[in-house]
Amino acid sequence: MVESVEADVVVAGAGHNALIAAAYLAKAGKKVVVVDARPIPGGGVATEEYLPGYFMDSCSTGHTIIQSNPVIKDDTLGLVSQHGLQYVDPDPVARVAMPDGEQVAMYLDPERTHAEFARFSQRDADYYLEFLEDWERAKGAFGQANNTPIGWGPPLDALLDELPNGGVWRRRRALSAVDVIMHEFTEEHIQAFLLWEACQTFGSVDLPGSGVLPYSIMGGRQKRSWTIPLGGSGKLTDALVSVITEHGGEIYCDTMVSTLLLDGGRCVGVEATDGRQFLAKEAVLSTIHVKHLIDMAPADAWGDSFTYGVDTYDIGIPLFAAFLVMDEVPTFAGKNPEDTAVSSGLALWPHQVVEQGRAIRDRQPVEGSAWTLVATPSIVDPSRAPEGKHTVKILVPASHVAPYGFDNWDDAKEWHADAMVDYISAAVPNVNPGNIEARIVKSPLDIERWNPHMINGCAHGGDKGVPFSGPLRPAAGWASHTMPISGLYQTGGTTHPGGSITGSPGRNAAMVMMRDLGLDFPG
Ligand SMILES: Cc1cc2nc3c(=O)[nH]c(=O)nc-3n(C[C@H](O)[C@H](O)[C@H](O)COP(=O)(O)OP(=O)(O)OC[C@H]3O[C@@H](n4cnc5c(N)ncnc54)[C@H](O)[C@@H]3O)c2cc1C
Repeated sequence: MVESVEADVVVAGAGHNALIAAAYLAKAGKKVVVVDARPIPGGGVATEEYLPGYFMDSCSTGHTIIQSNPVIKDDTLGLVSQHGLQYVDPDPVARVAMPDGEQVAMYLDPERTHAEFARFSQRDADYYLEFLEDWERAKGAFGQANNTPIGWGPPLDALLDELPNGGVWRRRRALSAVDVIMHEFTEEHIQAFLLWEACQTFGSVDLPGSGVLPYSIMGGRQKRSWTIPLGGSGKLTDALVSVITEHGGEIYCDTMVSTLLLDGGRCVGVEATDGRQFLAKEAVLSTIHVKHLIDMAPADAWGDSFTYGVDTYDIGIPLFAAFLVMDEVPTFAGKNPEDTAVSSGLALWPHQVVEQGRAIRDRQPVEGSAWTLVATPSIVDPSRAPEGKHTVKILVPASHVAPYGFDNWDDAKEWHADAMVDYISAAVPNVNPGNIEARIVKSPLDIERWNPHMINGCAHGGDKGVPFSGPLRPAAGWASHTMPISGLYQTGGTTHPGGSITGSPGRNAAMVMMRDLGLDFPG
């Protein structure tokens, strides 16, 4: 006898986007069941007690982009007002060491950032304020496009054409982030700093289609900093789970989906690897990576356009992470602990960033100097570690191919982490083995094992270049969350507008599903 669970809507994968869609549906009265492969829900929005008393964000820490989503901005699900979610905007915003030993800082007060940039170039510092104003005028168009399902509103280019300098923005969005930074700014430290910020979403910053990143990231950081949830990233998941369960929804963890159940060509549920079936009376919503999803139903169910789109879909840039326990704040050379930002790191010169990105895309091993993030959320949130101690997360881009001299990442990862610590200690001297009380290392392989949505350790649902954006994400004709199999919907980082903690694919999918299920969307 097959064990089965029935619901109106079955949600496969419990990343934050899927949970947002599930919360909207549950609030609208649908019986929702969510299943996830991991022992806890949330996907990349999780905080785990890796060591007693130390609460580490196993993936995301910064939640800046979701601040402009109505889910947070207007608190449409009551996450802030009713379910305990609280955010803090750390200041300083960033401190970044340059390859020549200089450091660049950024502050919430734009005048203070201006003064810092003026140490390197008065022209670039003055221009930075105009750059922010330009973004203020354009950001509404980008926000509207990101928070609307594809095909439901005017295309982004039409929205941009309504701006006085719409033609400029249309060209910018087609350029690369590197092109834009090199065109707008003249001084190498300022250029390297902006590029360090633009790399935060692990996009291919040298490829067409990434040109708006320097504006959107700097605009967001200048307004809200690297916004973090008090208590850890997982507090967003806790709030979403609370909404879902309060409205009768259920979450099943340790449940790996292997098959889509079809009846007369319609998706009527999912089957887990242990044989349990989750049956949907009305719809199935997936956040399973499209490269996996396509193998969960017969090939002829998908059609040529979708199959080609998934075959040619670029999974993105992998990352490598190390989680450190320290008894001091990582402190930059010549600076005090209070000068360190929650979001700090080491920059490369633009040509080095381009070389590294190309090597990774060519599936070559990379080692040595790297774009590096050193994140210390315990600076502003003492609940994450015992008194006086700190949790530090280090991220670098990596190739999924192990470094030279190693057959696989399992053998290479501790060596690579040692090399990273050594590299960081040149700029941040107290990040050294003598001060690191414990260390947990995750290679690209470990990240994929941890979350099957992060293939090869690529955490952002796929590259966001021109071939994989807007009406082409994940495939032409299937960018509005419906899938070639009726009854099946898709959300998460493989759908518009992509990965990171934005909540937009989740809210957009909810809008589409609620229309199809005859429900009013509340906003
Ligand atoms: C180390 C690290 C640091 C990061 N830092 C940041 C940051 O600071 N800010 C930021 O914005 N982003 C960050 N990211 C990226 C961010 O975590 C992701 O882009 C985001 O989580 C994607 O959300 P999602 O809703 O698409 O799905 P995910 O969070 O990827 O969740 C997908 C869920 O689906 C489940 N799943 C997949 N396949 C199956 C299956 N077959 N059966 C059942 N369940 C399945 C997974 O277990 C997972 O829970 C980071 C990522 C990593 C790895």
